[in-house]
Amino acid sequence: MDKSILEKIKFNSEGLVPVITQSYYTGKVLMQAYANKEAIKKTIETGYATYYSRSRKSLWVKGETSGNKQKVVKIKVDCDEDSILYLVKDYGVACHTGEESCFYRDINLRKAEKPDAYEIFHALYEKLLQRKIEKPEGSYVAKLFEKGSDKIIQKVGEEAVETVIALKNKDKNEIIYEVSDLIFHLIVALIDADIKLEDIQEELLKRYK
Ligand code: AMP
Ligand code: ZN
Ligand code: ZN
Ligand code: ZN
Repeated sequence: MDKSILEKIKFNSEGLVPVITQSYYTGKVLMQAYANKEAIKKTIETGYATYYSRSRKSLWVKGETSGNKQKVVKIKVDCDEDSILYLVKDYGVACHTGEESCFYRDINLRKAEKPDAYEIFHALYEKLLQRKIEKPEGSYVAKLFEKGSDKIIQKVGEEAVETVIALKNKDKNEIIYEVSDLIFHLIVALIDADIKLEDIQEELLKRYK
């Protein structure tokens, strides 16, 4: 963080500023806590997320007891400098309950909430994994997992070919449909191969220049 921006941060009457902590891998919001100036300075110096614990009234290096330290990739400041964001990686889980994110509960909206666009691959991964484990009656995906790797690989091949045909046809709707089919089956194949989406994200990040 720019030194001049650090000087601009508006701490509240208790000398604290809210910190939002976001996953570098998935964009998920992991937790919200507070920092004082010292905590931010320590975060900058050590590279590990440091907060101020209001209950313990002291600096709090997240993960010091649980081991779930958060490596800080970036610190961002919002438009009016009254909140900051830690972008973190290699964080294990953020919540003391063992959940990855502290925001694991929803208050239901009037209509069933869909995942946000950036979450859809992960939501889909979780749902398909659930199908594999729970094997609900009549589930296409559960059947696919039951038939085994060869069938799954064959489906990926088919959808890849259909995607190629759609691309050749230059038909946008067809391309969108077939690419979605392909991604869907690729996720099934990743689950079958015991590979996490985070592994793919990390590899892509490594290649990103
Ligand atoms: P840790 O920093 O993960 O070693 O946890 C130390 C203590 O901080 C825990 O026993 C909790 O009381 C508290 N704590 C850990 N993570 C969170 C969190 N995400 N939000 C609020 N309190 C937390
Ligand atoms: Zn603000
Ligand atoms: Zn929590
Ligand atoms: Zn298809």
